[in-house]
Amino acid sequence: MTFETTDATLLSTVQLTPDTIQLLLRAPDHAFDFQPGQHVGVAYESDEDGLVHRSYSPVSLPGTDTIALMVTRYEEGTCSVWLHDREPGDTIHLTSPSGNLHLRDENRDAVFLATGTGLTPMMAMMKAYQAEGEGRALLVYGERTTEDLAYRDTLDRWAAGSGSVDVAYALSRPEHADERSADPSGGGTTGMPAVRHGYVQEHLDELVAPGLLEEAHFFVCGVPDMVVDTKETLTGDLGVSSDSVFSEGWEEGA
Ligand SMILES: Cc1cc2nc3c(=O)[nH]c(=O)nc-3n(C[C@H](O)[C@H](O)[C@H](O)COP(=O)(O)OP(=O)(O)OC[C@H]3O[C@@H](n4cnc5c(N)ncnc54)[C@H](O)[C@@H]3O)c2cc1C
Repeated sequence: MTFETTDATLLSTVQLTPDTIQLLLRAPDHAFDFQPGQHVGVAYESDEDGLVHRSYSPVSLPGTDTIALMVTRYEEGTCSVWLHDREPGDTIHLTSPSGNLHLRDENRDAVFLATGTGLTPMMAMMKAYQAEGEGRALLVYGERTTEDLAYRDTLDRWAAGSGSVDVAYALSRPEHADERSADPSGGGTTGMPAVRHGYVQEHLDELVAPGLLEEAHFFVCGVPDMVVDTKETLTGDLGVSSDSVFSEGWEEGA
């Protein structure tokens, strides 16, 4: 089995959370061409597993010779462990971008709903939206605890900025009494992200303003159960048209 690949050199890795790193890769004389929200493949030959090929959604914008991936390590994982073990100077083969998650209309309000590594396509789309978007954008990002929130400083800064971007966090296992802005009703109006306890899909009616429900495009990415539940909540109780809700599309069968 062959894939169209681009060789990229690992420039640096940064630890984002206890389990998650960002890898910055560069392919000189190459302009990474994808729609923010789409994913690329990482492919390599392993003695134990043969050809390994997994998908990762860049958190960076297209059009340059560098690309940034955020990768969560699973103890029993194959490619995620291999990527966490790479060092600056190593070559990583990237395969062609594809995928159904990308902005349809930057002039339309957008709501991004993510859990875990589902944040990655949202980071790219939020960046594109901030660069070119005309409407309002809301990101609701679910994780277990505050320690698991990736890019928190960036997201807090976006929420505090003068733009029309809002961020809210949903923590499924808040553990520490001192979690930053753990006020379950707080944030949102103060320039700091709102923090809710529970799952993303449980808070949509409070977090998504009525105007957004009617006007916005909704982008959903996370574990399959979250995607299915969130889409059902949006198109059921909240009355959002299914034409306005976008996900990768494989989650229903997973
Ligand atoms: C469209 C798309 C985009 C993606 N984008 C990203 C991204 O940007 N960043 C990212 O980190 N991942 C992303 N993924 C997931 C990624 O493709 C791999 O599935 C992931 O890195 C695990 O691969 P692995 O080879 O390490 O694990 P595998 O060898 O495939 O799985 C081995 C074991 O690892 C554990 N494991 C694997 N995945 C999970 C999981 N999700 N939750 C809990 N345990 C697990 C399980 O024990 C599993 O049995 C994306 C997936 C898709 C389909």
